[in-house]
Amino acid sequence: MRVVVTGGAGFLGSHLCRALLDRGDAVVAIDNLITGNLDNVDDLLARGEFSFIEQDVTNHLDVPGAVDAVLHFASPASPVDYLEHPIQTLKVGSLGTHKTLGLAKAKGARYLLASTSEVYGDPQVHPQTEDYWGHVNPIGPRGVYDEAKRFAEAMTMAYHRCHGVDVRIVRIFNTFGEQMRPRDGRVVSNFLVQALAGEPLTVYGDGDQTRSFCYVADEVRGILALLDSNYVGPVNIGNPEEHTVLELARLVLELTGSASEIVHRPLPVDDPTQRKPDITLARTELGWEPEVPLADGLARTAKWFGRG
Ligand code: UDP
Repeated sequence: MRVVVTGGAGFLGSHLCRALLDRGDAVVAIDNLITGNLDNVDDLLARGEFSFIEQDVTNHLDVPGAVDAVLHFASPASPVDYLEHPIQTLKVGSLGTHKTLGLAKAKGARYLLASTSEVYGDPQVHPQTEDYWGHVNPIGPRGVYDEAKRFAEAMTMAYHRCHGVDVRIVRIFNTFGEQMRPRDGRVVSNFLVQALAGEPLTVYGDGDQTRSFCYVADEVRGILALLDSNYVGPVNIGNPEEHTVLELARLVLELTGSASEIVHRPLPVDDPTQRKPDITLARTELGWEPEVPLADGLARTAKWFGRG
């Protein structure tokens, strides 16, 4: 297959590019490098089947030649990033989704949208199943990401229904691993970098809020299983093992042997109180489930942050 990956120089996008190349696909990565980084694809640039286009996907996309699949992964994804780039976040989820769907339609390509557990907002159903409509504050600071992704899902289904585009939607839950930006503001990267530097670990609020963390190799395997499947409609891909943020902080201290203290900082506005994917659909439709335990994934990621 020849696959277009938007956000191809980002954290998840670059892992996807590598996995696609490794299985024999050709990849065209597109990224405007707002939050992506060419270092993430440095090792891929020399591979003949890989090409990179620096472009903002909210503008018209022109990719010469045949395309078999379009994977739309461009977007700021850390709350710190989308609060810093609120309008770009809204644009890439709306206009960017429109442009990439247009590309898929023109090429007769399969389309896969990177959606998010944030479509569930601060969920009142626990764990979250795909048929839950969510609890999102549209005008709060996080609304720029949540609503952009909700719109993106609606646009994707409209292109499927009106134009017959063959679509997939993955709802990605908190994912971590090598190639996260050390200071991207997300909890795993913050805690690991802080622990390794001997700085205090910043727990927001009392730390009782929960998340369920998926190691990137598991996440990418799930996304490719969805791409290759016949399932149209959103599928949760995440690790259902749920932890409080305080538990995560303690685990990071234990794994890194760090003597850092834990300090508390104000809880961001609309920070979801709990999050855990129900992955029954992924298990039954894709035969997928995560394999890497949290401690192993954290140890691998710590090693990567600690390199050089
Ligand atoms: N968080 C924290 N300390 C940090 C960064 C984040 O306590 O230094 C908390 C944040 O308030 C949230 C959870 O960790 O409850 C996950 O935050 P992240 O930014 O990784 O992603 P989110 O799931 O909120 O999109």
